[in-house]
Amino acid sequence: MKSIYLDHSATTPLHTDVLEAMMPYLTNQFGNGSSIHSYGREARNAIDTAREQVADLIGAKSPSEVVFTSGGTESDNHAVKGLAELQRDRNGNNHIITSSIEHHAVLHTCQHLEKHGFEVTYLPVNRYGRIRLDDLREAIRDTTVLISIMHANNETGTIEPIEAICEIAQAHRIPVHTDAVQSVGKLPLDVQKLGVNLLSLSGHKIYGPKGIGALYIRRGTRLENLIQGGSHERNRRAGTENVAGIVGLGMAAALAKKNRDAYVEHLNRLTGKLRDGLCEKLDHIYENGDPVHCLPGILNISFEFVEGESLILRLDMEGICVSTGSACTSGSMEPSHVLAALGLPPRLAQGTARFSLGKDTTEAEIDEVLEKIPKIVEQMRGLSSAYKKMMKREM
Ligand SMILES: *Cc1c(COP(=O)(O)O)cnc(C)c1O
Repeated sequence: MKSIYLDHSATTPLHTDVLEAMMPYLTNQFGNGSSIHSYGREARNAIDTAREQVADLIGAKSPSEVVFTSGGTESDNHAVKGLAELQRDRNGNNHIITSSIEHHAVLHTCQHLEKHGFEVTYLPVNRYGRIRLDDLREAIRDTTVLISIMHANNETGTIEPIEAICEIAQAHRIPVHTDAVQSVGKLPLDVQKLGVNLLSLSGHKIYGPKGIGALYIRRGTRLENLIQGGSHERNRRAGTENVAGIVGLGMAAALAKKNRDAYVEHLNRLTGKLRDGLCEKLDHIYENGDPVHCLPGILNISFEFVEGESLILRLDMEGICVSTGSACTSGSMEPSHVLAALGLPPRLAQGTARFSLGKDTTEAEIDEVLEKIPKIVEQMRGLSSAYKKMMKREM
């Protein structure tokens, strides 16, 4: 039996066109982009094309504003550490503003910087997971060097008001970084319109390969390098380029741009079907995330009287792959920091599953999921004493 994969926010399969584009660079076109002979030039041209494809996807003014990295995590580290450290060395300013719902790639980077003399404000969020602009205005200090707020959250799909954040930041001349790993390919992404200085994206969340990503650095935004070495990427990211990965990311970016409207329509239709079906068949379930400002394709549901980890394992046995609050916290029983920030009581946070759909998800798969989940949830609730007590009260 083929498994039903509903965990596309954790990673996506490689698009066949991406694999095809990469193949020559994994085989006979193996040149080093820094070599000046024909092999090197071939690699260099391929990298240049990919850089244009990524720049085109995000509306960068020039491909030179795109730096290839090893993924979303490195892009986030590069942006936050690189900017913060340069500013501190220049003028002693050491305050960073971020949010309490960031991906660990930003959150743990900020916590690391706190150990090294930085002060960090972690903005709270409302119950839908959005920051409040008044909180941001109040948090800004004379010493603030960076605001880093994600474009869309990987657990709930909640979209943050990046344009408004940038307007506020610009009035204080504070640069803004956004982690757009989840929104790329789903939301219209235009760095000019958003107004950000720095933007992170990753290959494997958009049907590209793992281990490759990019950081958009607006021209004129200065930051310290993360990795020291040769003069690759115009002296901004040392190390022989991952040519095949870069070519794959470029193709994934081109496809993401071309297919976006159809992709979003497909995701909205099937996510709506899943939501409606679950709500119709089950009581005591709650959707987390913003009802309006929400990414297509993500459905985060708390099943009351159910333990999420057990639910995920039961679903896996039935061939359905979803994730608990966040893939990164699976394996540990800690309720996710995102759900905690939404104010979800631990009891509900523990019973949460994230469904994230993809381009190959079918209507028949959603039908099968809607067939199986209510049965499993009801079975599990049948074993819960809290559930039985509540049912008695209701009768
Ligand atoms: C997956 C993800 C990352 C990390 O990207 P990698 O390429 O896996 O390092 C960062 N931020 C968000 C929001 C993500 O979903």
